[in-house]
Amino acid sequence: MRSPLDQIWLRAGLRDHVIGYDETRQWPKDKRERIFALGILRRREDAEAVQCDACGEPHTEEVIYPGDDGADGLISCPRLGVVRVPRERRQQWEVVAAGLNERAGFGVEISPAYCDVILRRLQESLKLTPVHAVTGEPFQSNP
Ligand SMILES: [Zn+2]
Repeated sequence: MRSPLDQIWLRAGLRDHVIGYDETRQWPKDKRERIFALGILRRREDAEAVQCDACGEPHTEEVIYPGDDGADGLISCPRLGVVRVPRERRQQWEVVAAGLNERAGFGVEISPAYCDVILRRLQESLKLTPVHAVTGEPFQSNP
């Protein structure tokens, strides 16, 4: 299984990608917390439909809310009937990354110092060692 960060980078290259709540819950808790702390995911509008997690069959159903009291939503499962869906399961995010918004790439070119900041944050937050693409040498950020 790919690491959560690998999954995020792969997704960042796709237009109109989203990362759903259920997917983020499969990430190890410490990694999930670090990824959200990095601010590389931006909340999108909640999903209209979620995958049923009650019957074991892969099917996606629209979530309905019988009242407006903040209670859980409901989906209709062909096998089990009405299934409760906690509100947070509709949450979804998009990756805010260079390839997606076409801004960070220019920023790096204009200001190498900003590149240092990004790499230092990645090193500290994710315990990654950035490697220079041409030389293969570990990157030494300037403090
Ligand atoms: Zn079902």
